[in-house]
Amino acid sequence: MLTDTHCHLASHKFPSEEIPAIVARAAEAGVTRLVSLATSLDDIAPNLAIADAYPNVHCGIGIHPCDVHHAPDDVIDQLRPHLSNPRVCAIGETGLDYYHPAPEGWSDDDFRQRQRELLDAHFELASENKLNVVIHTRDRSGDASLQDALSIYRKHASSVRAVFHCFISTPENARAVIELGGLVSFGGVATFKNASDVLDLAAHMEAGSFMLETDSPYLSPHPFRGQRNEPARVRSIAEKIAEARGQALEDLAAQSNRAAFSFFRGIE
Ligand SMILES: [Zn+2]
Repeated sequence: MLTDTHCHLASHKFPSEEIPAIVARAAEAGVTRLVSLATSLDDIAPNLAIADAYPNVHCGIGIHPCDVHHAPDDVIDQLRPHLSNPRVCAIGETGLDYYHPAPEGWSDDDFRQRQRELLDAHFELASENKLNVVIHTRDRSGDASLQDALSIYRKHASSVRAVFHCFISTPENARAVIELGGLVSFGGVATFKNASDVLDLAAHMEAGSFMLETDSPYLSPHPFRGQRNEPARVRSIAEKIAEARGQALEDLAAQSNRAAFSFFRGIE
């Protein structure tokens, strides 16, 4: 009944021999659909292999902002042929990351400029292919990456939708995303004791305006914080948010699934 709309099943933290058990534990927890995101060109084939093996796993393909320095000039042309594959349900994970320092040989300005160019190019590609975009933003302080991503999204919002994943920003910024036709998604941070503002935001969002995710293997929810995360734990996140919203888990699951089904191609 639940959908984990953002995980990384091809991560090196998930050895391939463990994938059957991870997908099975998700199903036991009622997490019956998974969206696994590729973050680099090398990450596409292993994600597609998992999606091919499991009818309930789809994947997104894109270049993560922390990986843009490895992307060749023709990276968008290398993504394009995969988009007709019915196992591909979205473009991403892409976005802007102003948190991590620029890699060796890059200035912060050049690295961020390359991220912005590629985010824009991902939107164009999404528009061409009638797909939506999964966006990561992260700042050390303030919200410059989110504001820059919103500006880029705004240029494409008439033809593409975006989800701002692992949303931890303000109600005003959530509203700005929704007003453009986008979505936010909430993950393990909403369960952290020191992030009550995120849970409070999730409690007050309009039904259908957000999705649920783990971002596994990262960001395990309370009480598993610090451990390797996995898709089954989207259930703990859903329980916490349903409780904060004063609604039944089934209702929250149905509403967030509807949002996911309208966002990702070929998932229902
Ligand atoms: Zn991610």
